[in-house]
Amino acid sequence: EYYHKYKADLLKKLRKKKTKPQYPVNAEINRKVSIWKGDITTLEIDAIVNAANSSLLGGGGVDGAIHEAAGKKLFEECVTLHGCKTGEAKITGGYKLPAKYVIHTVGPIGEKEMLLTSAYESCLKIMMENKLRTLALPCISTGIYGYDNEKACHVALKVVREFLTANTDSVDRVIFCLFLAKDVDLYEENMQIYFPVE
Ligand code: ADP
Repeated sequence: EYYHKYKADLLKKLRKKKTKPQYPVNAEINRKVSIWKGDITTLEIDAIVNAANSSLLGGGGVDGAIHEAAGKKLFEECVTLHGCKTGEAKITGGYKLPAKYVIHTVGPIGEKEMLLTSAYESCLKIMMENKLRTLALPCISTGIYGYDNEKACHVALKVVREFLTANTDSVDRVIFCLFLAKDVDLYEENMQIYFPVE
C-alpha cells in the first residue's frame, strides 16, 4: 500500500514538473490563442493552414478535406504554384471555403524538428506579410506523415508562443484546430508550459 501511495505521489510530481511553465505569464497573448476541436474547413476566418504535400495538388487527410470543400478553383490555382518545398508555405484564395485564404505548407515526413518548426514559422510569416489577423493551424505532419503527436504538439505550441511574443499587436487569434481526441488531451496538457496562467 505504501508503495502505491509513493508511486502515485511520484507520478503526480513528475507530471507537475513536465508541465511547469517555460514562458512568462502574458494574459494578452493568452487571449489570442485557442484550442478548437473540429473540421478546419468550417472556420470563417482570414486563413486556414493546409498540411499539404510538396506537389500542392491535393492528397488525403486535411488536404483532401480542404480541396473537397474549396472546389476545383483551388486546385487550378495550386497548379500555377508549381509545388512547395518541405518546411515552406504558399498562399492561395479560399474559394468556396468560409476562410478567405488557404496557406499551404509541407511538413516533414518523419520527425524532423527543424522542418516542422520551419513549416509552422513559414505559415505565420505569410500571415504577417498578408496582414491577416486570424489563422487556424492543423496538426501538421501528425497524420500520414507520421510525426509523434506529443513531440509535434510541443513544436506547434513553441513556435506560436514565440511568434505571438514578437508580434502580439499584429494578430487577433491563432487557433490550434485539432481533429483527434488525443491531440485535444495533449494540447490541453501542454498549454500550461507555453501559455501559462497565474
Ligand atoms: P500530414 O500528411 O501532414 O501528416 P494529415 O492530413 O494526414 O497530414 O494529418 C494532419 C492532421 O490533420 C491529423 O491530425 C488529422 O487527424 C487532421 N485532420 C484530418 N482532417 C482534418 C480536417 N478536416 N480538419 C482538421 N484537421 C484534420
